Amino acid sequence: MTAHQRPRFRKVQSFRADYAPTTITQYESERSGMQVIVADRKGPKVNGYFTLATEIFDDSGAPHTLEHLVFMGSKSYRYKGLLDKLAGRAYSNTNAWTAVDHTAYTLETAGWDGFAQILPVYLEHVVVPDITDDACVTEVHHIDGEGNDAGVVYSEMQALQYSSSELMDLRARRLLYPENVGFRYETGGMMEALRVLTPQRIREFHKAMYQPQNLAIVITGEADHDDLLRILDTFEESIKDDIPPPNPQFKRPFVDSPQPPPLEKTIVETVEFPEEDESTGEIVVAFFGPSCVHQVEATAVNILMTYLCGSSVSVIENVMVETEQLASSVSYWWDSRPNSVIWFQPTGVATEKLAFVEQRLIALLKEVASKPLDMGYIKECIQRELRQVKLQAESSEGFYATNIITDYLFGKRNGATLKDLETLDEYNILDGWTEPQWRDFLKKWISDAHHVSILGKPSMKLAKTLKANEEARLAKRREKLGKEGLEQLKEKLEKAKKNNEKLIPPEVLDQWPVPGTSSIHLIESATARSGKARSLGVLDNSAQKVIDAAPPGLPLFVQFEGVPTNFVHLTVHVGMTQTPMKYKPLLPLFADNFFNSPVLRDGQRVDFEQVVKQLEKDTISYQISSSARLGDYEGVAIQFQVDREKYTTIISWLRTLMFDIVFDPVRIKAAIVKALADIPEAKRDGRAMAQEVDMALHFKPESYLASKRTLVKAVYLRRLKKLLEKEPDTVLAWFEELRKSLFTFSNMRVLVTADVDKLANPVAAWDELIKNNPGLDATKDVLPITQPFSMLNAEGQSPGSFGSVIIPMTTLDSSYSVSTATGLKSYSDPRLPAYLVALGYLEAVEGPLWNAVRGNGLAYGVSFSREVDGGYIQFRVYRSPDASKAIEASRATVARLASGEEPLDRHLVEGAVSGVVFGVADEQATMAAAAQQNYVIGVVRGLEPGWNREILARVREVTEDEIRAVMRDVIMPVFEAGKSNVVVTCAPIMEENIVKALAAAKYKTQVQTLSHFYDDYGLKADEEDGEEEEEEEEDDEDDEDDDEDGSDMTGSDED
Ligand SMILES: [Zn+2]
Repeated sequence: MTAHQRPRFRKVQSFRADYAPTTITQYESERSGMQVIVADRKGPKVNGYFTLATEIFDDSGAPHTLEHLVFMGSKSYRYKGLLDKLAGRAYSNTNAWTAVDHTAYTLETAGWDGFAQILPVYLEHVVVPDITDDACVTEVHHIDGEGNDAGVVYSEMQALQYSSSELMDLRARRLLYPENVGFRYETGGMMEALRVLTPQRIREFHKAMYQPQNLAIVITGEADHDDLLRILDTFEESIKDDIPPPNPQFKRPFVDSPQPPPLEKTIVETVEFPEEDESTGEIVVAFFGPSCVHQVEATAVNILMTYLCGSSVSVIENVMVETEQLASSVSYWWDSRPNSVIWFQPTGVATEKLAFVEQRLIALLKEVASKPLDMGYIKECIQRELRQVKLQAESSEGFYATNIITDYLFGKRNGATLKDLETLDEYNILDGWTEPQWRDFLKKWISDAHHVSILGKPSMKLAKTLKANEEARLAKRREKLGKEGLEQLKEKLEKAKKNNEKLIPPEVLDQWPVPGTSSIHLIESATARSGKARSLGVLDNSAQKVIDAAPPGLPLFVQFEGVPTNFVHLTVHVGMTQTPMKYKPLLPLFADNFFNSPVLRDGQRVDFEQVVKQLEKDTISYQISSSARLGDYEGVAIQFQVDREKYTTIISWLRTLMFDIVFDPVRIKAAIVKALADIPEAKRDGRAMAQEVDMALHFKPESYLASKRTLVKAVYLRRLKKLLEKEPDTVLAWFEELRKSLFTFSNMRVLVTADVDKLANPVAAWDELIKNNPGLDATKDVLPITQPFSMLNAEGQSPGSFGSVIIPMTTLDSSYSVSTATGLKSYSDPRLPAYLVALGYLEAVEGPLWNAVRGNGLAYGVSFSREVDGGYIQFRVYRSPDASKAIEASRATVARLASGEEPLDRHLVEGAVSGVVFGVADEQATMAAAAQQNYVIGVVRGLEPGWNREILARVREVTEDEIRAVMRDVIMPVFEAGKSNVVVTCAPIMEENIVKALAAAKYKTQVQTLSHFYDDYGLKADEEDGEEEEEEEEDDEDDEDDDEDGSDMTGSDED
């Protein structure tokens, strides 16, 4: 190493953001022009984004295929998998994405030392990859021995190319951009182009675009700058003969290219997408917007979009979704580009109304622009967005990376526009905009502007044509190739696979020792407890002293977590042990209405619009969801992020929302309609449906997890909608009962994450919720949290007697599976450390299952469940041409390792141990996450403080024998008939083979329809009312109903 020489990097600038504790430093290589931009922020994670600006003028897929090939080896490291094996041992993960305008390679690491070790190896892969013909065969595209097209990228695009969103987006871009603008093209690669893409074309693209002068190394986290520059200097020295010298004539992609002309007219086009359910479609509407480099205008676009469709009270959303119910949502987004694009997307639109709804949207935008805007609400949108940006700057891992990447792509490379990140002045400037300024802005870019609209129309005919054409194409090819031709292709593929799978000699990996963990700085959060929470024990720390010294209050269970944040993160964790089973399916609707209903205030009814507006004013964000993220799958979490001075305001809001909501049939119906619109799409998801059926087999219906399945909603919601029309009072009474069962003193635990020193009246402030509130009886005890394994039914406690079920679904052209066996029940299980290492070993990127399954084209991926205390273990196959083969290959692999027939790979074991370390760091990457983790460990799982550190020490001591024992005793049963059950969802054509294969593996088999697993939770259909059942039947045309539910269908004899 040239330690005597100063690294040849020039510091362009360094500045501290004035709104968050982050310093941004920009360097430039004097030799190559490579940029290095570091955002220093505290925390255990160091994240790298190695970004190349890329533009291409065809659909060849060179950018995307190159992204895959980079991981297959480099000039000095000609081994597939070396990078990922090294990364795993260094507490790291690698990944990458290709967008239309750039490719970014990510390196996510716990601690600087691991990051520093991987950085130069990774960069060599990016700048000097070893793009072999063999790698292109397996990774890009090939024809297999049966004449089918395959290859990793090809399969990826095959799953995407005919989706509604892809077809609509591509058509819109073809209309927005001429041929000389790169934004027009599919950089992922169109299938027909991938079939003829050559390795040479990919190499040429790499040479043109992957030059250091077009590369930015973006890093967020605790970086050691001197070390970083030394590493990069040495790296540049090592590649100087492989790269062209910096070219002063180099044309920056997009910036130095021709710019798109303005739209000359409005274009509305219909695009069909293949779909059997022709009932609903969607729409995208695109307008050109201002340059993303102009920060004030870019921010103004975002504020305006929030004003128009940010929530249920904003005008577009309120009229089109809530009032006229023309769409289930109107989403919006913005592509930051030199000529940005503003997108609106109404979804869940009735097919026959697509054209009408598009016109309605445009008319509504014009109507808004024809009258004075609501300046009060605009100003609130500005302030709310400002609060959200500040919170993100403190808490989001990706916030700086996104902004820095956009600046690198389109801003000034001398750093002038990067400096805009120093302040948030643009919000002050916009706060001064007058009503005419805003309205002119709206007219200029949106309501008076030309646009491109695509009406996405579902077509059963297209689905059939595509399938027939594809079959004909393949048949013709097979005929042309003949037996001999196919045989040759098979050999070519086998040869390529063999060449790619060159074994990495252990001594190569040994050059890199496993890095130490001293540079991983976990965020400390100090736990303090008050009220009922004290019974869990109190610690001797400064936060507890503050809480003990504060004015005491009623004994609500409150855990405080002291971290130096500028905000308050507040969670109310509500148990459901007192909620009767029959009300559980109502909970998703209840949640949807929780922040969106009218309330009673001082005896007066306040409209839901007023409630939402006021809530938006008092908060940064709020949500209600399952408490799964707290480690409790059987409860509800109500969460707020607020400025510190709003602490008491939010407590009084909680009282209002919990006790003073007026259940309104109109609002409940709106929630049901929205939920119903999402069901067809959810039912097409093979992965989710396999999971839901597995749950039906193994969970008690009392489980909240089980009650919110799509297979429950599919019958329950339709019947509920009818009932609501006929007997609204009955339904309203149920919601009342549900509310009463939830919001009791015994059900409630509170987590407050804040800088507790600075929090006014932290404990007694909660009296506002409890005082004079007959609903909350503070003399009660707090009920225990539901143990996850207690929700397993008899089969779930001891799986194996059911066997297997195969569910053909016409919407699939692939297969998915879930296998379930008995698993660990507790985090205190002594086998836990070995279990974690064994799972990490099996699932490693380029590890044994990866190679056995993905490497052989048997599935896109396989994985194990990670719910340690659920009492079960699951093995899942994702997107497979035959799930039974993926299961069998996995079983054989695990069996060889468990028996010792195949020795454990020392480097992979090291990687698995490092993976557990990375997992712990990742779980507490931000202050709020670290605080929440303390709550999960101490309150939900009942473990000792410091449990995390203990498990880290214990995984290092796991022996190979212990790993094999866990594989044999805990993991193998998930592959054994009699000890496990298997659920498979698949394309109908695969049914026969999969049934045979599972029977051969000694599983009992049965073929069922999805509707067989419907559960109505006791809500029966009205016998005299045929209409509902008819509707239901329409949805299930493909299902042969043979269960009880189906027998009373009045419309079932139609076909
Ligand atoms: Zn890909």
